[in-house]
Amino acid sequence: MKIGIPQGLLHWYYYPFWKVYFEQMGFEVITSSSTTKEIVDQGVKHSVPEICVPIKIFMGHVVNLLEQEVDYIFVPRFESIEKGKYFCPKFMGLPDLIRHYFDGVENKLVMPTIKTKTDNIANAKGFKEVAKQLGISRQVHNKALKKAEASWLEFRSLCKKGFLATEAMDIIFGKKERVLKGQKNITLGVLGYVYNLYDPYVSMDILTKFREMGVNVKTFEMEEETLLNQRISHMDKDLFWTFSNRLFSAGYRFYEHPEVDGIIHVTAFGCGPDAMLGKILEYESEKYKKPFMTVRIDEHSGENHLQTRVEAFVDMIIRKKDKRGA
Ligand code: SF4
Repeated sequence: MKIGIPQGLLHWYYYPFWKVYFEQMGFEVITSSSTTKEIVDQGVKHSVPEICVPIKIFMGHVVNLLEQEVDYIFVPRFESIEKGKYFCPKFMGLPDLIRHYFDGVENKLVMPTIKTKTDNIANAKGFKEVAKQLGISRQVHNKALKKAEASWLEFRSLCKKGFLATEAMDIIFGKKERVLKGQKNITLGVLGYVYNLYDPYVSMDILTKFREMGVNVKTFEMEEETLLNQRISHMDKDLFWTFSNRLFSAGYRFYEHPEVDGIIHVTAFGCGPDAMLGKILEYESEKYKKPFMTVRIDEHSGENHLQTRVEAFVDMIIRKKDKRGA
């Protein structure tokens, strides 16, 4: 039996869990193809215009899996991975969006509700429903969950050592060595949801560009959750949604970190939470005296334009550092 995993949204954070989980239960895991213009166009065609770009792209990945004729498609309903905090409502409504949009898809969907108190989703009750739906015994299912959890914890520990999420996944699945390349003396804090940053088509591969330029990169998932939570707990108000809060507190931590020379915020068109978080952090750049740049992605972004802006931003930081004799 084939189960399809769309390469969108939290695929970029939980794939090491999901792949191991389903394989341990005897499924062949098929991911949708990497994002292309065609997938984006399909997503736009099958969405309402007002919705944010990452959800449109996710819809395109569902179309791609339907074309690959998989038996099941995995679309978890992410509700919460933190006590008293929730996901942006678009995550919560995603399975409903899909089952109402595509005729006859409902019995192909595997859509557990994920509601836990930490990022580690192995204890989510929703997985019991998955076992029931797929006819998996309790023993096999528990073993699969344990292995999946171990794979994901290893992934997270690699991220916290400074590997990008995509590099950490490649290490877990044997495609890359556990070696962090030597980096130069410029460090950028790059803020963005994993599905914007790590999808090479969406972000125009901005992180690889930095690696090639010898720029050291810090992202929110390289930070300890406890430290991010502590930082946000000192603020008068937070942003309500778990991942928006993490970006927000990572932004402040990057501003306060002596090694970080500047911040780039990668955001997608149509994202409400980002409109607030980006603006607040932009205002703060003056106070912390660190440059801040926004890169906004839409369905029609142009790569050359991004390359030029990123290079100019890095050049400006180098010149500033040279002037200070750093
Ligand atoms: S946080 Fe923003 S980009 Fe992410 S799903 Fe919600 S609206 Fe879309």
